[in-house]
Amino acid sequence: MKYDVTVIGSGPGGYVAALRCAQLGLKTALIEKYSTLGGTCLNVGCIPSKALLDSSEHFHNAVHTFTTHGIDIKGEVQVNLKQMIERKNGVIKQTCDGIDFLMKKNKVDVFKGIGSFVTKNTIKVSGEKEETIETDKVIIATGSKPSSLPGVEIDKKRVITSTEALNMTEVPKHLIVIGGGVIGLELGSVYARLGAKVTVVEYSGSIIPTMDGALGKELQRVLRKQGFEFNFNHKVKSATTKGKEVTVTAENDKGEMVEFKGDYCLVSVGRRPYTDGLSLENAGLKTDERGRIETDAHLETATKGIYAIGDVVKGAMLAHKAEEEGVFVAETIAGQKPHINYNLIPGVVYTWPEVAGVGATEEELKKNGVKYKMGSFPIRALGRARASMDIDGLVKVLADATTDEILGVHMIGPRAADMIAEAVVAMEFRASAEDVSRMSHAHPTYTEAMKEACLAATANRALHM
Ligand code: FAD
Repeated sequence: MKYDVTVIGSGPGGYVAALRCAQLGLKTALIEKYSTLGGTCLNVGCIPSKALLDSSEHFHNAVHTFTTHGIDIKGEVQVNLKQMIERKNGVIKQTCDGIDFLMKKNKVDVFKGIGSFVTKNTIKVSGEKEETIETDKVIIATGSKPSSLPGVEIDKKRVITSTEALNMTEVPKHLIVIGGGVIGLELGSVYARLGAKVTVVEYSGSIIPTMDGALGKELQRVLRKQGFEFNFNHKVKSATTKGKEVTVTAENDKGEMVEFKGDYCLVSVGRRPYTDGLSLENAGLKTDERGRIETDAHLETATKGIYAIGDVVKGAMLAHKAEEEGVFVAETIAGQKPHINYNLIPGVVYTWPEVAGVGATEEELKKNGVKYKMGSFPIRALGRARASMDIDGLVKVLADATTDEILGVHMIGPRAADMIAEAVVAMEFRASAEDVSRMSHAHPTYTEAMKEACLAATANRALHM
């Protein structure tokens, strides 16, 4: 079997790379070690977490807001976790089947098994049978796995990762979440809405520390209202299980040891690049000190003809970043000159309200000595927000003090994950805050907050504030 391109790993990086290669007329093979295509994102990441977030949000609303909307429920509203998980599994299946369909439609040959280098142009696939592929180019898209901490042993029963948290058989009574990043807050939200007490133990001084500071502050306030408890500046030392009880021990900023007791502990302290089983050395490759495969500006590795994309290389561990890189490498191999604007890859947290940001944060502008103007608009001032009873949050626009070019947009509010797309488009076309403020935004919508924040940034003249 001889291919132009062989892609190892079928997550959003790998399967998109394979599709684009096939579109460009390259004979393409895709290797996946699991029985279903789609990688972390479709099987144990983006899609299942959003399915559970949506289901739990319905339950939360039924309990907390239906009466105000004038909907009375006779009898008690109850969680049927088994059904919730089954629905989530159905969503995964439909999505993964969709990838199978796309591979067949585009004539990508799929191999099931572990892909490993024999040489830089020969890949062995060890599955039910062993096969060997000859290939001109290779794209490594093997993704990442959850990380842990010294002293914390993940038993996958009581001390769990996101993968187990997506397949629970009961709602925790008290879920201790180690790490206040995106995954911990999203999955913490699912179980907080379903009735669990959720305690976050975080090493740094805030949640979502890499996003604009205003977002973390507002999200913390809202999640507290939803029952979250936060413990910042706590360095976790151990997590141990005795029967059904988990004890997490952490050192606080005064040097004191503090104990947290719960029935489950979710370890969400980040993810590490995954290259096990690839036999990289046979292709003349090694990983850096953080386990990543090093690449140049074209995402080509130290060995010519071998590329790497997605979570296994540097940069944000996001599905849409992996997808962009998949397309980029396919087009590079086909002789085109593609481009990725890494500054404009949005970051999103699917709590409720949602959080999203793109471009420079205020902290970064300050650090780099950039002169900027800031305009901010509260979600509660929108008619649409009052109609839907989603009044928490804000949109914040940062623009260059001299040129008015938008440098960063940061938002927390209903559907922020979708709303951020407007900011990406505006910034890609290097719009000024005034440009956006002079465009019509449908009324009543949440997007009016973007227009108003741009008005505020341009000339401090928001209309509805
Ligand atoms: P992966 O999706 O990890 O896929 C890698 C694939 O390679 C896997 O299928 C693996 O089995 C396969 N593989 C590995 N080694 C081999 C081998 N030797 N041979 C054959 N196959 C191999 N990102 C977002 O943008 N938005 C979100 O909302 C979001 N939510 C998330 C929620 C959770 C709970 C988690 C865990 C992650 C979430 N992410 C989200 C992150 C996102 O899932 C990853 O950034 C994305 O999946 C990375 O894509 P990838 O193609 O690089 O790798």
